[in-house]
Amino acid sequence: MILTTAYLFNIAINLALGAALLAAWWRDRSQAFLRMVGLAFLLHAGLPVGFVVMHAGSPVAQLLGLALLVTIAMLSFGLLALGVTHLAHRAPSHGRLGAAFAGLLLVGALLVPLGAEAALGSVAALHLGIGLLAGLWLWPLGRAERVSALLLVGLSLNQFQVLVLGDAAAERQAMIGALIRLLLGLALLHAAVRRSAQESQRARDRLVRLTEHSHQGVAVVRGEHLLYANPALLRIYGLNSLDEVNTLWRDATMPAAERASARERHRQLVAGELAQVSWSGQRFRFDGTPIRLRFTAWRIDWDGQAAEQVVVSDETAQHDATTALLHQATHDELTGAPNRSALQARLRELCTARAGFALLLLDVDRFALFNEAHGPSVGDEVLRALAAALVEALRGRAEVMRLGEDEFALLAPAAAPDRAAQQVAQAVRELLAQPLAIPGHEFFLDASIGVSLHPVHGRDPEALLRAANAAMHEAKHTPGTSLQFAEERFERGSGATLLAEQALRGGLKNEEFSLVYQPKVDGRSGVLLGFEALARWDRPGIGRVSPLEFIPAAERTGLIGALGRMILAQACSQTATWRAEFGHCVPVAVNVSPLELLDPGFPDDVARTLRRHGVPPALLTLEITESAAVAHMAQARDRIAALRALGIEVALDDFGIGFSSLNMLRSLPLHAVKIDRSLIEPMPATDATAVVKAICDIAAALDLEVVAEGVETRAQHDAALAAGCRVMQGYLHARPLAPEEAGRWLSRSVPGTVRVLRP
Ligand code: C2E
Ligand code: MG
Ligand code: MG
Repeated sequence: MILTTAYLFNIAINLALGAALLAAWWRDRSQAFLRMVGLAFLLHAGLPVGFVVMHAGSPVAQLLGLALLVTIAMLSFGLLALGVTHLAHRAPSHGRLGAAFAGLLLVGALLVPLGAEAALGSVAALHLGIGLLAGLWLWPLGRAERVSALLLVGLSLNQFQVLVLGDAAAERQAMIGALIRLLLGLALLHAAVRRSAQESQRARDRLVRLTEHSHQGVAVVRGEHLLYANPALLRIYGLNSLDEVNTLWRDATMPAAERASARERHRQLVAGELAQVSWSGQRFRFDGTPIRLRFTAWRIDWDGQAAEQVVVSDETAQHDATTALLHQATHDELTGAPNRSALQARLRELCTARAGFALLLLDVDRFALFNEAHGPSVGDEVLRALAAALVEALRGRAEVMRLGEDEFALLAPAAAPDRAAQQVAQAVRELLAQPLAIPGHEFFLDASIGVSLHPVHGRDPEALLRAANAAMHEAKHTPGTSLQFAEERFERGSGATLLAEQALRGGLKNEEFSLVYQPKVDGRSGVLLGFEALARWDRPGIGRVSPLEFIPAAERTGLIGALGRMILAQACSQTATWRAEFGHCVPVAVNVSPLELLDPGFPDDVARTLRRHGVPPALLTLEITESAAVAHMAQARDRIAALRALGIEVALDDFGIGFSSLNMLRSLPLHAVKIDRSLIEPMPATDATAVVKAICDIAAALDLEVVAEGVETRAQHDAALAAGCRVMQGYLHARPLAPEEAGRWLSRSVPGTVRVLRP
């Protein structure tokens, strides 16, 4: 017997459907029955081969063919039956499965010796029995299952054809079997597809049921398209339905700056490069209200394509509460300004960054009395108005904080903090020169300001606060709005004092102090008019120390007397040397500390020193600072008068930054005022020029010489000259010079006649 068309058709149908069923299973592994039935079909394609072998002629071939036939039939039948149990949701346990297959093979082995007819008859009967059972199980499950059950019964009945009608019916049986199998395969595939669809519908229903009632927003997004949004998400964004919008990616809801990163995140999620990602940020409801959201997103399949599922929590309330708490903790309730802990944090930040800054502590003078007189609510109004006015006046220059009561901190980050402090103080002075208006009242306030500079007066917040606070208390001694820079002597009990004293004593003993000489020139002719002697301390291993540091230290430790005497002696000795060398000399100005001036023996000391070096008193000028004169007016006047009586000229230094009054200028027997460089620096600005001009006019009326200090530019020079300053001193003309260099200036000048040639 050979394989006829009917057999080949049967084989082809079994192979094709077997492959189709397995492929369907490969796509949806949850449909296990597809695999069993697919394998059964593939196995069944071997059956015609069994028939061919069985009819080969020899008895051995007949037996072999029958054995093959029965084995294939049993296994294929077993797999088919197993598939049906899965389809009917009655899958057996592993143990039972093994036993059933072993039983089938055993039955097969027992059947083979009975001969072809009996064996095939038994197989067909078994088939029919299982077909009927399957029909019973599958009937209630659906249309495709019912059709499959009928086809299964039909398939088993078909097997009786050869048994009943003989071998002549074999081909027809194969043909009909193939057709029934074709239909059965199609019915099963249909059942599988329907089940898949039902399953995904069920999954989606489950998801929807879960998300519809969730308090968290859930969205499914592909590209910029919103595919799904649950009610919570719509609520969060203030929408009624998804139909109103189909994207959250628009200006109204998502800040434009976030869009590029959101796009990239979406791409990575959908491409599977990111498994899951969380982020938070500000978004906007559709009515424009800002909201704070936290997102978590991952990739999902949505309608067969990759999409991003996002779970959104609305953290607006939490965020607002935290912000409010933080604001409350760092801001003052009365004025809304940052409070002491905000100041501490800011100081820590600036100190860590090693930034230069000035810390000004401002305390309103006599505020307690003010409160008593007008009542605390007016007091509160005043503080509120003062805070607002300070913020307004110092905008861009200093941060304003309220430390409590009537105390404010002004923080001015700047590369040159001393200058910044002066400017801030000046702005405060100008502000307080105007009345402070509150409803129904106008008040004039005074304040005392203490300043500490980072890093000059300390490198940590505590040290700076301590220094500024001590300076502020010192400033309280001066009436009116006054400014005081930190000095260590204001802070009692400082261990640093002892160290400074030791170092200064050593420096004096080892002659580490020297003088440099800065020329003062005639503003019109450039003629050298004098020198100012400026002290320098060259500390071994440390380098050059500024007089701004060591003069206050010497004052604090009481060594200023010795240091001052040494400096005066050095200046006189240098003057004598120059006189001997060049036959003439210009006056040399020596700075005098307020403490020296207070010493009643000071004028005699000076006279003795001049005599000792053979220097005429006309060649010495003394510079005293304004603050010294103010604090101790009477003594200062006596001392200056005594010095003038000796023929020594006295100039008032740093005029314009401290507390000065016309009365003081008039009552002190001075010969010159030196306008502080903080007033010269903003020139030629009109207002600055006006101030300098006013000082020059007063000085002219009082017959005082005017020296402009710190002239750095030609424009400052010209403006100062036009305003009435005759004498100029500053880097424009010369820096402080070593004695040799200063000597060269002297050698080129004949006092009053020859124009100085620049060295
Ligand atoms: P001062 O008496 O007002 O001296 C002027 C200061 O300004 C000097 O700083 C000088 O170098 C600096 N200066 C001069 N021209 C310019 C300029 O064009 N631009 C700038 N930015 N600065 C300029 P120095 O030498 O550091 O002295 C600082 C202060 O130390 C002096 O201010 C003075 O009060 C004090 N001092 C200096 N030497 C002595 C001294 O021998 N005895 C006493 N008691 N105090 C001294
Ligand atoms: Mg000076
Ligand atoms: Mg000065």
